[in-house]
Formats: sequence, C-alpha cells, structure tokens
Amino acid sequence: MTPSDQLTELKPPPALDVHRHALFLDLDGTLVEFAPHPEQVVASEELRLLLSELAHAMNGAIALITGRTIASADAILDGALVHVAGIHGYERRSDSETSRPSNDMTPIAGALEDVRRLVSNGALDVDIEDKGAALALHYRRTPQFADAVRRAAAGLAQRHGLSLLEGKMVIELKLGERTKAHAIRDFMATSPFAGRTPVAVGDDITDEDAFREVRQAGGVGVLVGDRSDTAADSRLADTKAVMRWLEAAVHV
Ligand SMILES: [Mg+2]
Repeated sequence: MTPSDQLTELKPPPALDVHRHALFLDLDGTLVEFAPHPEQVVASEELRLLLSELAHAMNGAIALITGRTIASADAILDGALVHVAGIHGYERRSDSETSRPSNDMTPIAGALEDVRRLVSNGALDVDIEDKGAALALHYRRTPQFADAVRRAAAGLAQRHGLSLLEGKMVIELKLGERTKAHAIRDFMATSPFAGRTPVAVGDDITDEDAFREVRQAGGVGVLVGDRSDTAADSRLADTKAVMRWLEAAVHV
C-alpha cells in the first residue's frame, strides 16, 4: 500500500460523545500551532474556555497527554485541564496527585553535559530543552543536523541508559520506559475515565503509542495532519479542524 492510499483511507472521526467517550489530547500540533521555539507556543482564550467546558460536560473524563512537562502545559493552558500526563507519559497528574517513577535525574544530567560538549565543539547545532526527566534536542531551526542529532542521540541513549523518542524536528532522551500508552491505561483504570470508550487525538510519532492503546481498548485514534503509516483510524486536517470537532461536542 502506498502512503497516498493510506492517506485517503482514514475517515473523519465520529462525533465526540461527552457522555460516552474519554478524551486524550496531545497539545503541540494538535491543539496549538508549533512555534520556532517551544516556549513561544501560546493558547488562545477560546481554546482554554473550550477545554474547561468540555471537562465539565465530560464529567472530567478528559486528559492532556503531552511531551511537555506538566508545568509547561499548565503555563500554556492556564490550568484548564486537571488530568495531565507530561513527558510522554513519564509523569501523570490525576486530581491533585502527581506521580513520577523516579526523581533520580543523574542520567539526564550526564547526557546534558555530553550534548553541551558536542554543541560547543561544533559537532551539533540544536536547541536543548531540559525537561528534568527528559532532554529534547530540537533541530527545527537547523534541519541540516537531523542525521547528526539522530546518531548522537542513539549513542547517548545507550551510554546513559535512556529511552529514545523521535518526534517532529526533535529527538528526545527520556528516563524510563513509560509512553503515552501507559498514561492512557492508568487514566482508563480510574474514575472518571473507567467504563468510557477512549479517544486519542495527536499529530506526532509519539502519539502512535496512544493510538495503538486506544485501538486495543476498542476506542478511536484520531491523527492530526497528513502523516502516513499510522495506527489511527480517523484523521483531522489541522489544529483548526480539531477545534471545530471539539466545539461541535459542546455546542449542540
Ligand atoms: Mg504533538
């Protein structure tokens, strides 16, 4: 099957049912547009209000599943959502409780030191984002370094015992093995998510873990954008289409 065949095969997502569905949303590239630097990303007042309305209508069965830290997501959404999984599932907040598998950041600190050395001697040109439990190497500004970043990251992951995650114009070194799938599974095992049908919406390669998880649970994966080779079964064109789809669920 060619990529274009697969592109046409994905259908529009079903209407979001606030009483029956549990909703798992990615942030960057799904709810908000990318910016040259992650800290420049902003959310509209309209989006924050819509998420609050949805959380109310869904009895709280809505969670943000992002590669950002929970703190960074809160800064963008101004705390509009209570349930948040950060760093691709590494950390998870449910009501007021936040859980993380480990607080030993030694491997990340070691990798950070190595990356800084590679940047200072000119072997790499990347924007380094230190998330605490993960290190993101962004090459959106310097795409010519994509292969060099990939090679360096693979070596550093092995050397410091870290997991490797590839995203859009970014490669991350992360503590532990947890993915977005683990975060969704944990949410689905507890109230108010349990008993609902999971729906995951995301644009990036790391969202594939989420799509596989919801598919296994009889739910729906919604890919945002024109990427091929996906475990999602539905597609929305862009962040604007996501907004319209979400709005339709609360403004009926
Ligand atoms: Mg994304």
